[in-house]
Amino acid sequence: MDFRLDDEQQDIKDLVRKFAQNELAPHAADWDEQARFPREILKPLAELGLAGILVAEDLGGMSLSRLTGAIIYEELARADLATATWLSVHNMVAGLIARFGDDDQRRRWVPDMARGEILGAFSLSEAHAGSDAANLRTTARRDGDHYVVNGTKFWVTNAGQADLYTVMVRTDPDGGARGISTLVIEKGMPGFSIGKIERKMGLQSDPTGELVFEDCRVPMANRLGTEGEGFKIALASLDGGRVNIGAASVGLAQAAFDVATRYAQERQAFGRPIGGFEGIQFMLADMAMRIEASRLLVYQAAQKMDTGESAGLYAAMAKCFATDAAMAITTDAVQVLGGAGYVRDWPVERYMREAKVGQIVEGTNQIQRLVIARALLGETAGAVADAR
Ligand SMILES: Cc1cc2nc3c(=O)[nH]c(=O)nc-3n(C[C@H](O)[C@H](O)[C@H](O)COP(=O)(O)OP(=O)(O)OC[C@H]3O[C@@H](n4cnc5c(N)ncnc54)[C@H](O)[C@@H]3O)c2cc1C
Repeated sequence: MDFRLDDEQQDIKDLVRKFAQNELAPHAADWDEQARFPREILKPLAELGLAGILVAEDLGGMSLSRLTGAIIYEELARADLATATWLSVHNMVAGLIARFGDDDQRRRWVPDMARGEILGAFSLSEAHAGSDAANLRTTARRDGDHYVVNGTKFWVTNAGQADLYTVMVRTDPDGGARGISTLVIEKGMPGFSIGKIERKMGLQSDPTGELVFEDCRVPMANRLGTEGEGFKIALASLDGGRVNIGAASVGLAQAAFDVATRYAQERQAFGRPIGGFEGIQFMLADMAMRIEASRLLVYQAAQKMDTGESAGLYAAMAKCFATDAAMAITTDAVQVLGGAGYVRDWPVERYMREAKVGQIVEGTNQIQRLVIARALLGETAGAVADAR
């Protein structure tokens, strides 16, 4: 296996790094502190092609590989994890509409998404349905050529900022996972409002909140795929989502490592740089090893998706390992900085708060371990049906 980047990938990496370090990194702490979503950077991101990473060129996208996508999210997250997170959700939604939408739907939404005119969101989770996502209860009843949607969705990244939401709803009360359909619900549709926006540990600049549907009438023309295909559509996004979260966690961990390394070279104690002490050296060595291992797992999973191999096991391994590693690395970075690590003058306390979310989203790391065990042991592992 050869993970050397080709010329195009290296050019894209350099371009994204320059943009991210100039336009995101200087503002990330303020956006977090003020819980302000930087909508104004969607357009410049789109001008670089980053709002349509997977989308075909005839729909205005870049048609890039998963591996190139992983490199992009790594560089963005090295500057600002929140931007990498909301942009990856937007790209996932554009990719889902491009893949499962009919021609009218593709032309109606995807080019505008790729141009950064409209922002996407993905809404599967509910109060009683997170890991157990197939247990969702938001209903969509047919009425003529419309669905009437009722219920509340939880934990929606980009809630309130997005212009369109791919929402998994129950169209068959007794159908289990096969009774779920996916609707594209647009901002401003009567009966659709934004509920509570969560106050979070990190990622403050990226709103996470509730969608409330009260007799919201959604044209049947807004259904993606066939009726009952909604959970399949949701699951289709998961491997890619896991690779992206893994990649973003590598970028976040790298940022924490960079700060810790510089600090260890400069901070003096007992008449020498703290990097001269074995206790600090070993922490930095472990951080570096974990970053490299995470990066290789992420690249491997992305490459398997690109070559059409079965990637579920590898995406779960990459997501789980890279996010656990980022949690450990950002925690150690705080330790290397001592008291300075615990205050907001330095970015590592934010990195540590931000790392936690990776262990929870796109399937918790317990669910990733279930996926891995099931792939290794088959039925012996026991099935948790339809865990996300
Ligand atoms: C910041 C943020 C952004 C999010 N964005 C989105 C979004 O855009 N769209 C969306 O649809 N959702 C989103 N989510 C929801 C996220 O996907 C869920 O929080 C996640 O899937 C876990 O579900 P839960 O919170 O209901 O936890 P639960 O499923 O209630 O889990 C609670 C605990 O039990 C463990 N657990 C559950 N089942 C098992 C099992 N079978 N074996 C072992 N342990 C188990 C879990 O690992 C966890 O530790 C977001 C969440 C957060 C925090």
